[in-house]
Amino acid sequence: MTDRSKEYIKMCDCPEIQEQERDGHNSYFVCGEHHLDMTKDADEYFHHLIKCKEKLIWLPRQDQLQEMVWGKLGDYCTNKISSLAWGVWDFYLRADDNYYPDSMEQLWLAFVMKELYSKIWDGEKWKDIER
Ligand SMILES: [Zn+2]
Repeated sequence: MTDRSKEYIKMCDCPEIQEQERDGHNSYFVCGEHHLDMTKDADEYFHHLIKCKEKLIWLPRQDQLQEMVWGKLGDYCTNKISSLAWGVWDFYLRADDNYYPDSMEQLWLAFVMKELYSKIWDGEKWKDIER
């Protein structure tokens, strides 16, 4: 089940994620109340962009989030899958005891934001981790 909740949309609506490289033809977007799935209907997406003035927000899938962080992880492992698994597990272990992400997408997104930007989600916005 892919997370398309209001919470996930809010978490994705930040420059760090929206400015990432992405495969536009293979992605899922929301704008206002509209949901646009490029994998299903690219024409609808382009027609929509012309007439709608709402802000477009990309909702990355798990594999897209994993690509963002892959290659930028520390020395977990040379194997890609193992490295990602170790990385996210290490992140989860160090998180607050009360950290229960609502979805795998939210977990991977939080991991990406921590690894690449040293930010954590406070329930409303991304904030810098205090050192
Ligand atoms: Zn729209």
